[in-house]
Amino acid sequence: MIRKPVNSRLAEFGTTIFAEMSALAVRTGSINLGQGFPDTDGPEEIREAAVRALRDGRGNQYPPASGVPELRQAVAGHQREHYALTYDPDTEVLATAGATEAIAASLLALVHPGDEVVALEPYYDSYAACIAMAGGKRVPVTLRPRDGAFRLDLDELRDAITPRTRMLLINTPHNPTGTVLTREELAVVAALAVEHDLLVVSDEVYEHLVYDEAEHVPLASFPGMRERTVTIGSAGKTFSFTGWKVGWVTAPAPLVDAVRSAKQFLTYVASGPFQYAVAEALRLPAGYFDAFRADLRAKRDVLAAGLTEAGFTVYRPAGTYFITTDIRPLGESDGFAFCQALPERAGVVAIPNAVFYDNRAEGAPFVRFAFCKRTAVLQDAATRLKRLAA
Ligand SMILES: *Cc1c(COP(=O)(O)O)cnc(C)c1O
Repeated sequence: MIRKPVNSRLAEFGTTIFAEMSALAVRTGSINLGQGFPDTDGPEEIREAAVRALRDGRGNQYPPASGVPELRQAVAGHQREHYALTYDPDTEVLATAGATEAIAASLLALVHPGDEVVALEPYYDSYAACIAMAGGKRVPVTLRPRDGAFRLDLDELRDAITPRTRMLLINTPHNPTGTVLTREELAVVAALAVEHDLLVVSDEVYEHLVYDEAEHVPLASFPGMRERTVTIGSAGKTFSFTGWKVGWVTAPAPLVDAVRSAKQFLTYVASGPFQYAVAEALRLPAGYFDAFRADLRAKRDVLAAGLTEAGFTVYRPAGTYFITTDIRPLGESDGFAFCQALPERAGVVAIPNAVFYDNRAEGAPFVRFAFCKRTAVLQDAATRLKRLAA
């Protein structure tokens, strides 16, 4: 055996929890509410568009490094239609292998060794690994429960910024808590970025998954922000095709150039035929987005009711397709142990939020459930979880 096969930058990162918990779900025949992938595919006409592209020989060979023009135009059109943000499809849009690559390439391109990157905690697990691969130092700002939701403490954010801060890595709507930062909160985030001349990477993959009164406002739309913000989107979340790995970046040309320079040595290009299909998806009428949102909102309510009945404290999400719960009312305090035992106890798999924290104790009592599943599956899960209350 080679001693210490993993380099020191990655030593703290083992297998992602998602692979581990999905394997546990298969092994135990449990309902998998751990990993956030939909159990029904996105729109049929978009699947057909992918088939057509493949048959017509579009995208079967290396597409252009920035993505096919059709996709870049559609992304620019989407930002304009939905947010009145204008981007030049030729110089300010970049297609990536999912949002995952967009995050990796942005951090590798824009963070110098030793730079501090301020990220909202709990954070999406790839953030920590990518900051580490870039040689940066992560500085978490923790969202904490207040009035029924996990909220950002803007004073804490202000205090986290130092002369070594290079970047704010923001995620709204926020995975795993379901928090959607308000316009007022985002205005403060933006003002801090401008005041300290920071770069901002804004992971907005759940931009269309907002419920009730919540609204998604892109960080790039605030004064002084367009020029410093790399915005990330993904067809996986917006169109329920997580396996296609089509993501995109919108940013001013110098930032896109930088991100592309890292991206070209990661995948170079990916998902050729799917890029054409996603270009069509991005042009779907408002009715698609409204129906998608309404469907997920109803699913949220089914699972939230089930979890409440089972005895969890439920943080009803304003966005994303995740519900974060507190297990302490069930007499539990260790989310890891709870999630390990849950398949046996109730035939359901969930994710311990502690994996998304630097300070694991802070995240210990929280557990995340995904609701991007068929209603019958969620109802079955709700019935099973009632065993916990008994
Ligand atoms: C799912 C997810 C991603 C990754 O998206 P892909 O397009 O599947 O690579 C990135 N960020 C957040 C917050 C996510 O939940």
